[in-house]
Amino acid sequence: MQIVKDNGPITGEHIAEQLNLTRATLRPDLAILTMAGFLDARPRVGYFYTGKSGTQLLTENLQKIYVKEYQSIPVVINENVSVYDAICSMFLEDVGTLFVVDKSSQLVGVLSRKDLLRASIGKQELTTLPVHIIMTRMPNVTMCERDDLLIDVAKKLIEKQIDAVPVVKKTERGYEVIGRITKTNITKAFVALGEE
Ligand code: ADP
Repeated sequence: MQIVKDNGPITGEHIAEQLNLTRATLRPDLAILTMAGFLDARPRVGYFYTGKSGTQLLTENLQKIYVKEYQSIPVVINENVSVYDAICSMFLEDVGTLFVVDKSSQLVGVLSRKDLLRASIGKQELTTLPVHIIMTRMPNVTMCERDDLLIDVAKKLIEKQIDAVPVVKKTERGYEVIGRITKTNITKAFVALGEE
């Protein structure tokens, strides 16, 4: 990097000469520095220093992570399912948020752990109480799409103080649930970014 900083633009051969290495030995290292964004390469001109700091490159990489790369499989239930059965689904499927759909599979609401806890401490009969009574309903459901930036979804989770959003696809009748993004997915992206 110092050689390129001082002499750039400089060809691979000239860098190799200065280091007493062959061009072939150096090639993987130059490829890594170029991919990471520290150096740039122009055909027939050579390598030059981009002048970008690690933080700048991290920000640029963050702006390239899309929902579709990190989304996981959604767990959906019908709006007429009982609160009791929804609690069972939450345990069986091991998720913290359930998405509620109508008979034509269109999104109508969201159920969180606390929604189910709240219903459970009341004096209601859980086996006959349908989830549509207690869920957060449309149009108040925060959603995202496959091609949204993950950072924008992370901002929504913070702003709305929620744990998950459905990934949806617009249909003629409403929205079809095709995935989910939770705080866990965001954490995975965060770790991957740190390990890159
Ligand atoms: P918990 O209640 O288990 O802490 P959340 O923080 O995700 O989980 O949910 C808080 C409240 O926000 C609940 O009433 C829930 O119905 C609602 N909620 C959860 N996800 C969404 C969403 N994507 N859009 C709108 N409301 C949501």
